[in-house]
Amino acid sequence: MIDAGAFTPPPAEPAGSAALATSGCRPARPTVQILYVRYLAARPVDEIQCVAQTRRRHRCTHTVLAPQTRGGQWTLMPVAAHVGQLAPPADTMAVYSLAALPYTEQLRWRSQRCPQHAATPTAADLALAEWEPFDPLPHSDHIHTRLPTLRRRGGPADDPRRGVRA
Ligand SMILES: [Zn+2]
Repeated sequence: MIDAGAFTPPPAEPAGSAALATSGCRPARPTVQILYVRYLAARPVDEIQCVAQTRRRHRCTHTVLAPQTRGGQWTLMPVAAHVGQLAPPADTMAVYSLAALPYTEQLRWRSQRCPQHAATPTAADLALAEWEPFDPLPHSDHIHTRLPTLRRRGGPADDPRRGVRA
């Protein structure tokens, strides 16, 4: 028995607002493509920390994505699976691609160093680079089929060209 009078339709929600709030943000463990190889990062793109040791024997606190550098680009790419593997969990996935960067910049990302320590090869690494080779099946939880919402196109403070150069 349905009491028609007691039925209240759910309040109309703006479509997708909840989804935007959660999945619209940056992935916690993004897939980053460096020199044609995909890696699963240990943390969000702008939190990947330099592994070099400073002169005070602490780990450098700078991030690999430095304000004065270009960084990569979020791109939807096919989920490439090896021949003979099961079907990949999705057709396309969001990848932070460094393909447009010069070779040396991509090497810097792979060695997980800030620009200063990339230029100081004598500084020892205090930590291991955290890149994990990306594999679509074990890492299927980290496959995002949509591009993250970026918030870098903001005011002048967000423009790296106007930023303070060290
Ligand atoms: Zn550094």
